[in-house]
Amino acid sequence: MTLIDGKHISEQIIGEIAREVDALARAGRRPPHLVAVLVGHDGASEGYVAAKMRACARCGFRSTTLRLEDDVTQQQLLDTVARLNADDTVDGFIVQLPLPPHIDEQLIIEAIDYRKDVDGFHPVNVGRVALGLPGFVAATPQGIITLMERYGIATAGRRCVVVGRSNIVGKPVASLLMRKAQPGNCTVTICHSATPHLEQFTRQADILITAVGQPGLVTAGMVRPGVAVFDVGITRVPSSSTPSGWHLLGDVDFDSVAPLCSFITPIPGGVGPMTIASLMQNTLRAYQNQ
Ligand code: NAD
Repeated sequence: MTLIDGKHISEQIIGEIAREVDALARAGRRPPHLVAVLVGHDGASEGYVAAKMRACARCGFRSTTLRLEDDVTQQQLLDTVARLNADDTVDGFIVQLPLPPHIDEQLIIEAIDYRKDVDGFHPVNVGRVALGLPGFVAATPQGIITLMERYGIATAGRRCVVVGRSNIVGKPVASLLMRKAQPGNCTVTICHSATPHLEQFTRQADILITAVGQPGLVTAGMVRPGVAVFDVGITRVPSSSTPSGWHLLGDVDFDSVAPLCSFITPIPGGVGPMTIASLMQNTLRAYQNQ
């Protein structure tokens, strides 16, 4: 069993980007600039944005966090998006989700100029990627694809089961793996909350990707020996043994499933760090596209 070290691969990618940005600086060019719009004070969102800004610093990017209060109106947020769309000093920006309930997330996503949509959530990018055309791929699915590449995990002709059908993970990763490409050429099945007898599908998987957010959903009896597992789920559970008072669990019961796997991502240190590395790659690309 190979434990996939997403932290190590993400460090590699950030190092590669930093070298490119260094070369840009030596050529007298300005660095790429990523802006994160953070609405409210949700602890998890604050943590994610802070981690993204730290990664920007390590890449040599300029970064800005724009903070808006919970009671910002939808129109004020749309105005902020319009300003960022028009700002030539901004290469890419993200609006950290989730947004407060009085704001229509999809409306905000669609207001972003797709050329600056480094999260890859805009329908133009989702559509282009689904069609096999160049576009920004959502960061988490891209991170999984990069792990497959860097670990040399064969995908062609293999059965891939994706559990979860979200717009940000399940659907795009399924779309990428069914492409006529490498990695790709998988026979893909998508399971979701209305799938009965999940185990009948997961047992067929050569590659199993879970993006649900339900610890212990996948147990040893639900996988076949030799499966490659990518566990995207992140759930915070209370813990008395960590200074923070909580720890993170994936969807897969790691201790029982790992011994059966050819490859498996741990939580933390698996898919999570790759999400940030992919966002940095998208930001560099947005800069290069300008
Ligand atoms: P989501 O939270 O929007 O939806 C969950 C999905 O799980 C739905 O598609 C639903 O149909 C499916 N589901 C629910 N119960 C199920 C069941 N019993 N059997 C099969 N499918 C079931 O999805 P999301 O936004 O992709 O997030 C999923 C998990 O991944 C969350 O824990 C989230 O925190 C995590 N996540 C991690 C990263 C990362 O960087 N590692 C990025 C995004 C999301």
